[in-house]
Amino acid sequence: MTKRPFDRLRKRLAEVSDLTKAATLLVWDQRVMMPPGGSAARADALGTLSRLAQECFVAPEIGGLLEELRGLEESCDYDSFEASLIRVTRRDYEKATRVPPELVGEMRRAAALALAAWGPAKEDSDFEAFRPHLETNVELRHRYVDCFDPPQETYDVLLDDYEPDMKTAEVRQIFDGLKEQLVPLIQEIGQAGEIDDSFLTGSFDPHEQRELGLEIARRFGYTDEEWRLDQTPHPFMTTPGFGDIRLTSNLRPDDLSSLFATMHEFGHGAYEWGVDPGFARTPLGSGVSLGVHESQSRTWENLVGRSRSFWRYFYPRLQEVFPDEFGAVDEEMFYRAVNKVHPSLIRIDADEVTYNLHIIVRFELEQELIEGRLAVKDLPAAWNARMHEYLGVEVPSDAHGVLQDMHWAAGSLGYFPTYALGNVISVQIWERALEDLGDLDDRFERGEFGDLLEWLHLHLYVLGRKFTPQETIERVTGSRIDAEPYLRYLREKLAPQPA
Ligand code: ZN
Repeated sequence: MTKRPFDRLRKRLAEVSDLTKAATLLVWDQRVMMPPGGSAARADALGTLSRLAQECFVAPEIGGLLEELRGLEESCDYDSFEASLIRVTRRDYEKATRVPPELVGEMRRAAALALAAWGPAKEDSDFEAFRPHLETNVELRHRYVDCFDPPQETYDVLLDDYEPDMKTAEVRQIFDGLKEQLVPLIQEIGQAGEIDDSFLTGSFDPHEQRELGLEIARRFGYTDEEWRLDQTPHPFMTTPGFGDIRLTSNLRPDDLSSLFATMHEFGHGAYEWGVDPGFARTPLGSGVSLGVHESQSRTWENLVGRSRSFWRYFYPRLQEVFPDEFGAVDEEMFYRAVNKVHPSLIRIDADEVTYNLHIIVRFELEQELIEGRLAVKDLPAAWNARMHEYLGVEVPSDAHGVLQDMHWAAGSLGYFPTYALGNVISVQIWERALEDLGDLDDRFERGEFGDLLEWLHLHLYVLGRKFTPQETIERVTGSRIDAEPYLRYLREKLAPQPA
């Protein structure tokens, strides 16, 4: 057995990672393969594994090693593997040891109960049945916040779990900029007249959809050696270990949303796939934050997958597979239909422009809830009013409103903003890639996506969690998070052209 403290730390962290990855695999199995009867036993197994992983990580031995390693950290270059691993682990450790295990357990239990109540409450559009659970979750978040040094804003503590080091004030500034420009843009697009997208609903054999999704993913970089694609109602990506990227997609027989879901999850998968293999089994071995992660799913789904050049390449193939649906629809009609901007009620079905306003509504309400400016009982009315104000839609029922997402049931307050931050970051990185690679349209039209994947791999994916999200973005793009490129992109792509 080795005596070097750095090697001892690595060994401990590898064990934590193995336990966490085992839990990841159990969750994947639960959502993809497990018959429903297994749920109680699986909850027990997951509870034990995550408790062991947590205990292993917050052990005093790790704290002691981190102290011992201060000298090594200072003597190594900031960018070195050693300094980065010690720095990132110390940050994770300090956060993890601040929260008493009883509170962690209580939050997990409350979330499980809330999730169980949320499903039927959404089904019956019965907010009252869900209200006490959300009140408990908000109350528990207050206790969680109290574990940390007093922040500038209460919400900072919640946000930090998903977007480390990001401050509420900065997100507010970015989102206010989006709101100011997107609300009028949506009105402008609305006045230009309705785009026909009726042909996007029809009958699309799920087996064919899966094959097409795989065909696209393979073009992007998916290989059978390291990736899988399965089917679930709610698409997701997970990785139980290096060289093992698991995507799921939702094969709905009456539309083609699975193709975009597959491209979206491919983007998440590509990011994890590209992390430096030397970071495996350490806290550096994954994407840096939910926002940066989402920037990559949005890159492959929207910047690539909803581009003209992509469909110039792939639309003939789609017409060949679904001749009855698309035989009479030309490429331009199809392109406009998959980019249709239209205010709607449901976040996950929203287009590139209105999506951000769905997020801003949630971001604002979450802050009001956690700061006690809004009582949980008044949440549905506040939701409906804000949806009307920003998107001009009338919410017919809580199922189509405040109950639509599972995040608050799961206790994930502070998560939503990362979706819109991802949109913003995606275009910053994209513009930087184009500066190096030149125009990619010709390559996309020929079905060649390798240059883009390689650029993202070398400049972003490989960094893993070595730096903070903001440092990572600055290293890749040369600037801090900035909404201007994204707003310019939306306007150029989607604003009505003067006749
Ligand atoms: Zn995503």
